[in-house]
Amino acid sequence: MSAAEEHKIVPVIALHAGAGTIRRDTMTPEQETAYRAGLRDALEAGRTVLLAGGNAMDAVTAAVVSMEDNPLFNAGRGSVFTSDRTHEMDAAVMSGVDRACGAITGICGPRNPVLAARAVMEKSEHVFLAGDGARRFTETSALTMMPPTYFDTESRLKALEAELAHRASGASDDHDEARKHGTVGAAALDVHGNVAAATSTGGMTAKMPGRVGDSPVIGAGTWADNRTCAISATGHGEYFIRFAVGHEVDARMRLCHESLAKACADVIKEVGEMGGSGGLVAVDAHGNVALPLNCSGMYRAWMGRDGVVHTAIFHDDDE
Ligand code: ASP
Repeated sequence: MSAAEEHKIVPVIALHAGAGTIRRDTMTPEQETAYRAGLRDALEAGRTVLLAGGNAMDAVTAAVVSMEDNPLFNAGRGSVFTSDRTHEMDAAVMSGVDRACGAITGICGPRNPVLAARAVMEKSEHVFLAGDGARRFTETSALTMMPPTYFDTESRLKALEAELAHRASGASDDHDEARKHGTVGAAALDVHGNVAAATSTGGMTAKMPGRVGDSPVIGAGTWADNRTCAISATGHGEYFIRFAVGHEVDARMRLCHESLAKACADVIKEVGEMGGSGGLVAVDAHGNVALPLNCSGMYRAWMGRDGVVHTAIFHDDDE
């Protein structure tokens, strides 16, 4: 092996499609097969870009687009409903090269909100656009736009009705918050040594219109810096914002010289101890991959340095 080959950077990618109360005893084999197929498709979309020598930003975008188009996942097509029976989507992308980033919140229109976030990064002088201005920006950004009904799915409507009925019954909100959410995201390292992250979500079922979660908040649900890592988080967004999860992991690595595995595991544990269920996927510039979670499951898939594709759903499940 030549010196050049020896130092060749091996690309890696990790993705998630939401975390929460995901139990073996309530999932049918058909559902499990469908989730694993969706995860594998998304991983394949990102992996294809990376193995062709493409960049990490294109890889994470491709993986997230695949999951946004899959109605099983809470992003794009399968987005949950707000309490007003509308959809308000959030997304963000970040490049580890120069901390370039773009984010969008509270929109319903672009078929792929992650592409809208990327357009904010690449075609505007800003990093974060919201509401009506965001929508107008996306309409002029050559993105595919869809009518609101495109995002309506039967299963999300049922989830909304169940949540509204639960609230109307006056029962205390002691049921697992984790059942109400979901998100998709990816983090990757390319052959050029650059990392990137992307996250996209419909947010939480029956959320108050106008509510913004952690996914589009740079430094909370999404983060990338070549010196440390790329991260996409999923979970109860209010807690992930309060803990500045993405930046917290970055700071522990950069300033305290912690490993990716330790920084990610400790932060997710601490968020859980505060009451925030969820997890994250992360990669660093050395090709390490971390996928910690503090709840019973996280839909996830990854390809590490060995090139092997894995999918996993339950906490103790590392296929
Ligand atoms: N973090 C997302 C939000 O709070 C939801 C999730 O990841 O499940 O909007």
